[in-house]
Amino acid sequence: HAAHALANEALWEKDRAHAVHPWTNFGPFEERGSLIFTRGEGCYLWDADGRRYFDAIGGMWCTNIGLGRREMADAIAEQALRLGYSNFFVDTGNDAAALLAAKLAELAPGDLNRVHFTTGGSTAVDTAIRMVAYYHHVRGHPEKTHVVSREASYHGSTYLTISVGKRYGDRIEEFRYKEDGIHHLSSPNLYRRPAGMDEDAFCDLLVAEFEDLIARVGADRIGGFIAEPIQASGGIVIPPAGYLKRMWEVCRRHDILFIADEVVTAFGRIGHWFASEAEFGIVPDMITTAKGLTSGYVPLGAVIFSDRIWATMAEGGHRWFSTGFTYSGHPVSCRAGLKNIEIMEREGLLARATDVGRYFEERLATLAELPLVGNVRGRKLMACVESVANRETKEPLPDEVGESKRISDACEAMGLMVRPMGHLNVMSPPLVITRDEVDFVVETLGQAIRQVT
Ligand code: PLP
Repeated sequence: HAAHALANEALWEKDRAHAVHPWTNFGPFEERGSLIFTRGEGCYLWDADGRRYFDAIGGMWCTNIGLGRREMADAIAEQALRLGYSNFFVDTGNDAAALLAAKLAELAPGDLNRVHFTTGGSTAVDTAIRMVAYYHHVRGHPEKTHVVSREASYHGSTYLTISVGKRYGDRIEEFRYKEDGIHHLSSPNLYRRPAGMDEDAFCDLLVAEFEDLIARVGADRIGGFIAEPIQASGGIVIPPAGYLKRMWEVCRRHDILFIADEVVTAFGRIGHWFASEAEFGIVPDMITTAKGLTSGYVPLGAVIFSDRIWATMAEGGHRWFSTGFTYSGHPVSCRAGLKNIEIMEREGLLARATDVGRYFEERLATLAELPLVGNVRGRKLMACVESVANRETKEPLPDEVGESKRISDACEAMGLMVRPMGHLNVMSPPLVITRDEVDFVVETLGQAIRQVT
């Protein structure tokens, strides 16, 4: 790819020859290489040759407060110098982790007052799922180990979490996904609901599917249900009204723990600290989070769970809670988390995400009439445009047609980064995006779509 090759030849060549990128098709990568960034500020990235791009992807759904913040860098540096590491196992801790855990307990809904820090989203979800089995075991239900998830969900990239998720593109048979004790319900995708069915009937159908599964497998074997409040990587799937609440009620009726995977939806992405209660009226048993927790400056994830689960696990206190990582409660990561929250509070970024996010929704809706565009959907600052072969029948494009990649390439040539994913172009800009920048993103994306059509 000529444009990439021009970006600082030496860096490009080293990266291409030695750096193995995640979720990459090695063949095309060999030819194309990657776009190498060397600087970021606010919503903007600069490549190694000094070209500027507006990053509407927000890194990877994570650069919420924006890049290049001096006070964040100072906080990280101060902590690294004063206490760059101390182990968090058993009976030693550090100031930053204690303060951040307490702050998260304050921000999380209900009695979700216990925080277990991990290294990112995957390790948070992995830990949460292990806790499901632990919790039920301690209560005398050792069979309650099965986990229910949904199609098109993404919960991480460890062996367990990729198996719990189910995005079709990831399911290559070489990886031999774990299937034992994992069940997948339908994705609550309104755009792809059965033809002629209204939203309420679709919701009934989804809830009935869950109840049927429980009847078939047995409530005595199902320990947990995991759901992203809005499926992110699976295509910005905003569920039908009332869906999450009803699924949550089914869980409570059957003693099934509800894990809300808020790796993407927390920390302002849709205008709240956490989306579960504020947007959807549910208080899950556990919340997993990461990404916007530090706005991507350093890695950090967390499982936030209820006092009730804590008390139950404590009853089994003679057992090892044998999970954790060298970097659990890392002081530098936790310091970044504290600074991130402080900045969001001081600058009112949640309210801003709501305000600019609604404008983003409105402006994006204007793209719905373009040829190729089947559906435009989103909630505040997470959105996508879905391309289809036929707008009337919603017929999907054949797998091999890379329309969304061609769209994102055209955007890139105009200085805009949007993420191609299957037949979608996905956006989750930093919360500091302005209305003028929203206009730029929407106009450029529209132009790119017209170019490839
Ligand atoms: N859960 C959700 C909903 C995610 O979107 C992601 C990452 O995209 C993960 C979990 C995994 O997080 P990480 O990549 O930090 O391990």
